[in-house]
Amino acid sequence: MNDHQPWKFTCKTCDSHKLTVTRVWNILAGPDSERWQEWGPLEADHSWHYEFKERVEENPDDEVERGDFGEYAEDDSASEPEEYEIFESENDTESDEFYVNCANCDREIEFGWSQPNRGGRIFPVECSDFIPGEFWPEPRYLESWRQKHWLRTGEDQL
Ligand SMILES: [Zn+2]
Repeated sequence: MNDHQPWKFTCKTCDSHKLTVTRVWNILAGPDSERWQEWGPLEADHSWHYEFKERVEENPDDEVERGDFGEYAEDDSASEPEEYEIFESENDTESDEFYVNCANCDREIEFGWSQPNRGGRIFPVECSDFIPGEFWPEPRYLESWRQKHWLRTGEDQL
């Protein structure tokens, strides 16, 4: 699938070339709120798909039980992942959190979107085809990008 990948990412910490996109969201379940995450690889065309999904345990004691992000990354076998079950969330998607991490060492990578309002595709800043001034930052990185002068010229930055 990645035979003609037009961009290159090399982690400066672990030399991995793969990136993982993670979405985290909260579900109100009675008095408690559940936190879920799903994640999968960033593709050559800057799209991504989710291959895994799990509830995020808030109890730090459970942290050990959770799989490390790197474990599945080493499996380059040709076996197709199971078809991911698409479901529509009725949650307010503005509260969703998106993360891009090195698939091997889990280092967080800043990224932007090709369209405003978190639209379009994901462009991590450490990819070779990232062009400062071309993308809309993930809101979490707005201030960071402002300081680096990476924001688009124009009024609406998000
Ligand atoms: Zn890494």
